[in-house]
Amino acid sequence: MSDNQPQLTPTELREWQQSLEEANRHNIFCHCRECNYEWVASKPEACVCGSKSMEYISCWQFPDG
Ligand SMILES: [Zn+2]
Repeated sequence: MSDNQPQLTPTELREWQQSLEEANRHNIFCHCRECNYEWVASKPEACVCGSKSMEYISCWQFPDG
């Protein structure tokens, strides 16, 4: 074992895992009903086409498989 290798402390590791969970929780699949543009955002956003006819689906709601 070398001391030169950067290693995550348990605290850093937990923060990293929490940030991953946060990202999962806040990833929102956005779908524009006007132009059918689709993207993933951290919060509900308006479409680039200016339409407000949007569909928002939280990524965690997608079933596995
Ligand atoms: Zn659009």
